[in-house]
Amino acid sequence: MPMDRPAATGETMRQHLIDPEICIRCNTCEESCPKGAVTHDARNYVVDPLRCEGCNDCLAPCPTGAIDNWRNVPRERPFTLDEQLAWDTLPARDGTADAGGAELPAEVAAIAAVATAGQGGAVPPPWSAAHPYVNLYSAQHPAIATVSGNFRLTDESASADVRHIVLDFGATAFPVLEGQTIGILPPGVDGDGKPHHVRLYSVASPREGERPRYNNLALTVKRVTEDHEGRTVLGVASNYLCDLAKGDRVKVVGPYGTSFLMPNHPGSSLLMVCTGTGSAPMRAMTERRRRRHALGEGGRLMLFFGARAPGELPYFGPLSKLPAEFIDINLAFSRDPDRPRHYVQDLIRARGADVVRMLDDADCHVYVCGLKAMEAGVDAAFTDACRQHGRDWNALVLLLRASGRYHVETY
Ligand code: NAP
Repeated sequence: MPMDRPAATGETMRQHLIDPEICIRCNTCEESCPKGAVTHDARNYVVDPLRCEGCNDCLAPCPTGAIDNWRNVPRERPFTLDEQLAWDTLPARDGTADAGGAELPAEVAAIAAVATAGQGGAVPPPWSAAHPYVNLYSAQHPAIATVSGNFRLTDESASADVRHIVLDFGATAFPVLEGQTIGILPPGVDGDGKPHHVRLYSVASPREGERPRYNNLALTVKRVTEDHEGRTVLGVASNYLCDLAKGDRVKVVGPYGTSFLMPNHPGSSLLMVCTGTGSAPMRAMTERRRRRHALGEGGRLMLFFGARAPGELPYFGPLSKLPAEFIDINLAFSRDPDRPRHYVQDLIRARGADVVRMLDDADCHVYVCGLKAMEAGVDAAFTDACRQHGRDWNALVLLLRASGRYHVETY
């Protein structure tokens, strides 16, 4: 059994471990490790912390996922080979794991904590979500992607320059699921001469790729030209990404995220609420369902999407072509001179009966993504809709969270 260990007080490291409970002892990890870091005895396969350099070459060949396990440990005291060889189960995690149990680099954990603060802590993924890979590539060993497209999504006349950027990973394995994020490492250094921090972006394409069977994915990126107070500030990563040309190479880390994942079981429904580029994961999920619609596996899709005006709404053209029987789309425009000012929460109230019907459906999963400021308004709108139809949102949301049916990611 794993031993009790003192909490890390000094520098920590991510230690690569193999789960003895699900490992089938097939030897693929030992064969694929270029550093000879994986070894075994008659009982367990284990990773030598002194040899493993975190290249992750062993992850993809593993048929069970037993290889994809990590713990944050004191750098001066990783689990030894003798300790690992004696295990029947992996040791318990410390407090830096995400909802799905993945240990995250500290700066990614900090961003994820901000994004999910509104849901009151860790939320499990939908029970039928696919197993996500996380942390395959780090700042020390990033994946290199090549830009295969960079298209402006918003009208040329629109104030916001929002782009659909397609990254191709060539022969490098970079598996993602809808709802996951990836990290971009902008080149150059910050004002203190240090490498820029990682910036996270949601994947905007389905798991099989922006172009099916091509090893690529898409991002939705808005060029940041001012801060929250309206002062001129050029966002480092967003401007870098928006200016990329076809053929440029980009350093990518991740993927991250084990909670904001879509359900896969037949008949499962999605209730999606987003603003601006918070539409990225909704585009991924909707596109996944659209491509598989003919298989008849999808349940109901309902989308509430807020933008300033139609010309500023990413994916407006493709969205408006989707048939109403496939997806129930509700667009809220806040600055369109031809329409009354609306936010997504106004439309949730207006569609209260249908929203509550979806919340009542045990197969419906709710996703909220976009501006931090929208959280309170959306919560109030769900509260009102529930009250009008004899439900208690405060009680219901606890059940939804506990069962992995309510997911919030706001920045
Ligand atoms: P935006 O264009 O500034 O706003 C989109 C819409 O939301 C506008 O109609 C805006 O109205 C409205 N809005 C403002 N305050 C609101 C509130 N309190 N409640 C409801 N709606 C409100 O949005 P954006 O700049 O694209 O920002 C999207 C956010 O999504 C960013 O914070 C981004 O970090 C986050 N995000 C991005 C990604 C990605 O992959 N790129 C992924 C996840 C999340 P008015 O401005 O007219 O008031």
